[in-house]
Amino acid sequence: MSSFEKSVDAYKEAVDLMPGGVNSPVRAFKSVGMSPIFMDRGKGSKIVDIDGNEYVDYVLSWGPLILGHADDRVVEKLKETAEKGTSFGAPTILENKLAELVINRVPSIDMVRMVNSGTEATMSALRLARGYTGRDKILKFEGNYHGHGDSLLIKAGSGVATLGLPDSPGVPESIARNTITVPYNDIESLRYAFANYGDDLAAVIVEPVSGNMGVVPPLDNFLQVVRKITEDHGTILIFDEVMTGFRVGYNCAQGYFGVTPDLTCLGKVIGGGLPVGAYGGKKEIMESIAPTGSIYQAGTLSGNPLAMTAGYETLNALTEDSYEQINQKVDRLIEGYKQAAIDFDIPLHINRAGSMVGFFFTNKAVINYETSKQSNTEYFAQYYRAMVEEGIFLPPSQFEGLFLSTAHTDEDIEKTIKAARTAFSKINK
Ligand code: PMP
Repeated sequence: MSSFEKSVDAYKEAVDLMPGGVNSPVRAFKSVGMSPIFMDRGKGSKIVDIDGNEYVDYVLSWGPLILGHADDRVVEKLKETAEKGTSFGAPTILENKLAELVINRVPSIDMVRMVNSGTEATMSALRLARGYTGRDKILKFEGNYHGHGDSLLIKAGSGVATLGLPDSPGVPESIARNTITVPYNDIESLRYAFANYGDDLAAVIVEPVSGNMGVVPPLDNFLQVVRKITEDHGTILIFDEVMTGFRVGYNCAQGYFGVTPDLTCLGKVIGGGLPVGAYGGKKEIMESIAPTGSIYQAGTLSGNPLAMTAGYETLNALTEDSYEQINQKVDRLIEGYKQAAIDFDIPLHINRAGSMVGFFFTNKAVINYETSKQSNTEYFAQYYRAMVEEGIFLPPSQFEGLFLSTAHTDEDIEKTIKAARTAFSKINK
């Protein structure tokens, strides 16, 4: 049995210092019945906790680390940048470099604005859509998570789903009233909502692959219909690619599915492990933001040199081939899990888009929030704890996907499959 003595002690201290001992709720490991594991260091696909236990990491900081931990190329450039000063509050060339790369890579983006998190990106994109259209209402999908902005914390996924929380107290009714929600992948409900509110809707915001109720890809022509109906009503279509951006493919989910939104929100991979978010889109819409336009949005540390460096070096290291290589590892992982589920008679449904993978403990298809909730979370908790014992670090929630990086090796994958077989054999049915 691994020892977690130091993590347990650190957590005891932390709960008196921070609410729940953490700075973001899912880190409290509540839904898997464990004390949080405190990390010390990481390199490539491996991380080591403060008790010295080593893991193959499939959390990757919840998505950003597509090159794995402490990639030499990124670290080297970060050192160079740090030595020149970490923040100026005046423009730097580093901002141009990352912006140019993003514009070249993301089909919908002609112009981009850097912010500091995914939450900031979605909040700002919504304000822009509202300011630009002069409309107040927005539409989101149940179980999609777009950060913790007031308008978007309605029927949200991620930690809100993991902790089984209702819509958050503190969001004024007057704001919540302007957010219309419909089930993901449900074209009929979407048409119904548009029939009722269509000409009042400033924006539809959608995760092109949902990653916050577990991984749920769009069905058939769902995204195409969303594109068409928003176009017909003069509603801005926002793809929240904070998770999918530079993750599901070289040209993000919009390239992968061939659907171009009006605005795109980015985060995670674009910062390579440092705090970055961004939103961008058509020039005409983007120029409505201050200082060219009158819609206000700003940030003391936006475009921060260290963050721009990590983002640029990470994106620049990725080629179309990098995605191909990661996808092959995912293929093998899925194959191993499928066989393990058959051999140990475990109900398992697998969803996948590129290197975003969701394992659900159910035999039924998972296409939206309702169906994702059918998953056996008790099985998940047992599986999770057994995987930790086997040296595999997974997101501690049934409602989060797992990620792979270019640093994951064939040995890592075989070790993980072997661990899953052990974990499945121990599940108490
Ligand atoms: N949108 C999506 C799709 C996300 O997955 C997340 C975070 N998991 C966010 C927005 C919010 O990003 P951040 O946590 O950086 O504020």
